[in-house]
Amino acid sequence: MATGSDSPFDSLWKEYSLCFRDFDDLTLARWMAQTLGQFEGKAWRFSHPLLRAYLLAAQLAQERQIWLKRLATSPAGYGESPCCRAPMLPLLTRDIHEAGLVCQHCSETLVPFEEIPAAIQADLRAWGEQYAPVHAVAHWDDTQRKSSDYDRAYEKAAEEAERLLIKAGSRLAPKLLDYYPAIVWEDQDECLEVRPEDVTL
Ligand SMILES: [Zn+2]
Repeated sequence: MATGSDSPFDSLWKEYSLCFRDFDDLTLARWMAQTLGQFEGKAWRFSHPLLRAYLLAAQLAQERQIWLKRLATSPAGYGESPCCRAPMLPLLTRDIHEAGLVCQHCSETLVPFEEIPAAIQADLRAWGEQYAPVHAVAHWDDTQRKSSDYDRAYEKAAEEAERLLIKAGSRLAPKLLDYYPAIVWEDQDECLEVRPEDVTL
């Protein structure tokens, strides 16, 4: 996904977020609390439109410190995030081993890898270790690219990434629901050009 503060992509998302800017603090807090209720008990694709909308609201909520003001009660299953005090909504990414589970409200580490429940930690570690060399193909330097049929290696890595992302969505994320009220999983690999629609569960 394109980034950079002035990219056309960012301008578009800024435009999308305008609808939430018309919400006053209380309306924003209530909308978010209600949407968290919809999220509860399910694993969500990062690309899901409802989640994307929620993330736009979350960005604004962060700016306005909505969660510190305690304007609305989030559903009971959601504990308070240690990073920013928003309700806990973790994101599973391929960087699980280094970044842990990432907070969807402030993008900091929400649950460090060592604090992830032991029953699922080993599976997540194994998955992350399988994924790292696959993803690394996208970042091979010129020497590595020249020493092999790079197009073929890249294609193979993309297929493997699809398989690993399907595993994240179908097996790992649902297991995390034993410990967290809702979970978001990254369903794309932009460096390997794997799009959400390539990741079919
Ligand atoms: Zn946070």
